[in-house]
This record gives sequence, C-alpha cells and structure tokens, in this order.
Amino acid sequence: MLERTLSIVKPDAVRRGATGEILQRFESAGLSIIALKKLRMSEELARGFYAVHRERPFYGDLVKFMCSGPVVVSVLQGAEAIAKNRALMGPTDSTQAPPGTIRGDFGTDIEQNAVHGSDGPETARAEIAYFFNASEILAPCEA
Ligand code: UDP
Ligand code: MG
Repeated sequence: MLERTLSIVKPDAVRRGATGEILQRFESAGLSIIALKKLRMSEELARGFYAVHRERPFYGDLVKFMCSGPVVVSVLQGAEAIAKNRALMGPTDSTQAPPGTIRGDFGTDIEQNAVHGSDGPETARAEIAYFFNASEILAPCEA
C-alpha cells in the first residue's frame, strides 16, 4: 500500500554529519522525500511530539536531547513506507541494532539513536501534520 511516514534525523546524527547518508538510504530504498525541513525544536515542540511518552522515566532527558541541536524532518512516501522506514532504522536501542541499519551505523545508545520514524498509519498522519502544512508536501517526481 502506498503510505506516508514522518522521519526525523535526530540531533546526534545531524551533529555527526550523517544527514546526507541517511536521506540517501531512504531514496535508495525507493522512498520519495516529499517534504523536508531543518529546524531546531523548542522544548514545547519536543514535549508535544513525544507526549505519548510523558509518563516514562526517560521523557525529560529525551526532550532535552531532541532540543540539543538541529533536526532534519521529512515526509517519506512509498509502498509500505511505514514498515520500510522502521526496517531501515533498526531497533530502538542502537547497541542492539545490526550494522547496515541506520541506528546500527549512526546511533550511540537507546536514547541517541539517530532517527525517528512513525510506528503506524495513525501516528504517521498526526506526526506529519505536526510539522508540515499541506502546501509544504509535494507530490513525488514522475519519470
Ligand atoms: N528512548 C529512551 N529510552 C528508552 C526508550 C526510548 O531514551 O528506554 C527514546 C529514544 O530516543 C526513542 C524515543 O525515546 O527513539 C521514543 O521511544 P520509542 O519507544 O517510541 O522508540 P522508537 O519508536 O523511536 O523506536
Ligand atoms: Mg516510537
């Protein structure tokens, strides 16, 4: 099924200069980048984005990390984009992520894990709308 998903290159990966390589992996896997922006998240923006985790012990540190530097946010579109992106990312804990996955290659630990990816159709819709207006989302290029 043709889907859209939200991706974030997190501050750790932006800091280490991995933005280009990570975006390359999406495109090489057949995902089209149909919206893209670089921004620095405010505490309020990060708190809202991760509100689902607000009761978890790692929430405060996670919000601080997400605000620690610029992020690169994109909308990826393609067949099974949500699952495909999660497969490219690898598991949450970078120390458990195999080489060849984004987290395995660019992440550090369970918090500083290089990328975010939506985990289902509902969250994808909500997360895309959290960062992008309809006018900022472009149709993929045709051959
Ligand atoms: N995280 C953390 N400690 C944990 C679990 C998660 O710092 O024990 C952070 C990590 O950056 C992760 C984010 O919180 O990417 C969201 O957690 P989630 O369980 O949704 O993992 P994801 O969907 O990103 O794989
Ligand atoms: Mg998640």
